[in-house]
Amino acid sequence: MKKRISCKASLLLYLALSIVSMSAYGQYKMGSYSSSKNKFTVVESDSALTHQWYRPKSNKQIYYNGYSGEKNYLSRRDAIYVRAIEKGSWAGKTGKWAKFNDYDFVWFNDLENYNQEYIANIEHEKNMALWAMQERWDREFAEFLKIVAIGVAVIAITIILIVWLYRRRRRCPNCKAPSARVKLGDQFLGKKSHLTQMEEERYVSGRWNSYLGRNEGGYVKVPVLKKRTTRYYTRHYKCKYCKHTWTKDYTKVGYSDVGDIEIK
Ligand SMILES: [Zn+2]
Repeated sequence: MKKRISCKASLLLYLALSIVSMSAYGQYKMGSYSSSKNKFTVVESDSALTHQWYRPKSNKQIYYNGYSGEKNYLSRRDAIYVRAIEKGSWAGKTGKWAKFNDYDFVWFNDLENYNQEYIANIEHEKNMALWAMQERWDREFAEFLKIVAIGVAVIAITIILIVWLYRRRRRCPNCKAPSARVKLGDQFLGKKSHLTQMEEERYVSGRWNSYLGRNEGGYVKVPVLKKRTTRYYTRHYKCKYCKHTWTKDYTKVGYSDVGDIEIK
C-alpha cells in the first residue's frame, strides 16, 4: 500500500516539478524584466497612442530588447510602429514604455508621434495652399478694383470735361454765365458762287479683255467742274440771365454739279 502511494506521489511530484521547471524556463526566456524588480505589467490599450507611427526625438535613441535585455540604438530617421504601451521599470525609468517590432521597448517620452506630425504637415500644406489661393484672389480682386476705379475715373473726368466745354461754349460774353446762350434765329445775308475744278471717282468703260475675261474699264479719278457756293449767315443770341444780345457769323459751303468733262 505504502509503496503504491509513494509511486503515485512520486509521479505527481515529477509532474509538479516538470511544470515548475518549464514555467521557470519560460520566465527566464521572457527576459530579466519579468523578474520582480523590472516588470512590465499593465498594457495601455489607448488606441489614440498605440498602433501608430513614431520616431525618436533624438538621433541616438536607446532601446532594449525584451527577451535578451540587449541595448540598441535608433536614429531619428527610424520610424517605428508602436503596438502597445506598457507600464514598467527598466534602466532606472519607471513609467510608459512603447513596444515595437517583436519585443523591443523604448521610453515612450523619447518618441514623437510621426502620424500627428505627418497629419499636421498635410494640414499645414493645405493651409498654405489655401492662403496662397486666397492671397492670389485678393491680389487679382484688388487689380480688378484698380482697373474699375481707373475706368470710372476716366469716364467721370471725360463727362465733366464735355459738360464744362459745352457750358463754356454757350456762355454769355457779357456776364460770363455758362450755358446762358439762347438761340433767337438765323439771318441769311447772301451767297457767292464760283466754278472750281475737282476730282471725282467715275466709272469709265474700256475694251473687253478676253485674256482677263472682263472689261478693262473701272473706277478712275476724273477732273470735274463744280459750282462752289458759300452762303453767309448771322446767328442771333440772347443771354437768359442779363438779356444781353450778340451775333455770330457763319458760312455754309456747298457744291453742285454743272456738267462733266467728257474724256475721249
Ligand atoms: Zn449774360
